[in-house]
Amino acid sequence: MEISIYIFGRRLFPMALINVAKARILCPICGKPDWCMVSEDGKLALCQRIANDHPNKKGGWWHSLSSDPIKSHKKRERREKAPLYILNGIYREILKVFPLSDDHYLALRKRGLTSEEIYMHGYRSLPVERYQGIKKLEQIFKGYDLDRLFGSIPGICKRKGKNGGSYWWIQGGSGIIIPVLTIDKEVAGLQVRLDNPTSNTKYLNLSTDGYDKGTSCGILTHVALPSTLKTNDIWITEGTIKANVIMSRLQASAIGISGVAGWHDVLEIIRNIHKKHDISEGNIIIAFDADYEQKEQVFYHMAEMYKVIENEFNQNQYPIYFATWDIRKGKGIDDYVISGGFPLFVDMEEIQKKNGFKYL
Ligand SMILES: [Zn+2]
Repeated sequence: MEISIYIFGRRLFPMALINVAKARILCPICGKPDWCMVSEDGKLALCQRIANDHPNKKGGWWHSLSSDPIKSHKKRERREKAPLYILNGIYREILKVFPLSDDHYLALRKRGLTSEEIYMHGYRSLPVERYQGIKKLEQIFKGYDLDRLFGSIPGICKRKGKNGGSYWWIQGGSGIIIPVLTIDKEVAGLQVRLDNPTSNTKYLNLSTDGYDKGTSCGILTHVALPSTLKTNDIWITEGTIKANVIMSRLQASAIGISGVAGWHDVLEIIRNIHKKHDISEGNIIIAFDADYEQKEQVFYHMAEMYKVIENEFNQNQYPIYFATWDIRKGKGIDDYVISGGFPLFVDMEEIQKKNGFKYL
């Protein structure tokens, strides 16, 4: 990727940016293994998660660096993620070992979910005190080579004990566990709605890249498919819970991406849903939080996704719309749908007229 830009009074033209995943380093700003970039000269980072006063028009924020992250950071050990059937097997045991707590059940009820929905979507609780649960997990897989097995599961890692030994651990803050499902309802990953969110992170994908025996979860995209389709429409939203709500309340297929920039799996998933349900026409509806209409950066990512989908699918068969609704009735599409609302569909031209941004 090459860009030209003025930043910190310097003209950077043209400047090569390297993705941190490709450079196999952690972002020097947010510490995460993906999405962010560093400049080839090692003087700037374009972080996608931590904001400052230097936003990049096409997403992220520019940070100046005091030392070259590629030269000064040790290369990370690259561990392969287990194949899907093994991930599914282990994650399902984790879901059995950690039941949903009463507090989390009530929090989901308060959000408007019914007990059937809470049961159906498999929400669980990752507690602060999780040592006993992990011990149970070890018991279940007794006799297996745990270094190999657990060592290929994102979210699991080894921790150093006080007396020099080490023990298995599930890394991540406590909160509601949300299974991230494939089109065939295999558990491909686990997400946690944090009990103590930070200003940047409310949802965390369990991932242990860079930890001892840890593995990266990569990009996780959730697919929520109803058992019977009431409509051929496919919704794309941000977040697993939102996709689940759209699926259960509107009986439509819903794709939940993690993060506005993480939409790159969407094309293949739409193709697979079409194939699985023998669909040859239907709307594709983009439904991000209502604030995308005000946030240019969020809209930019949506427009990029729009372009790619538009390129791939015949617009007569699969027109693309944006969902919009009365923000006073809920910021998120899930709040709005739970309140009984059905959003309005508008096309690209109308949405740009409405929000004043111009991309296409
Ligand atoms: Zn970053």
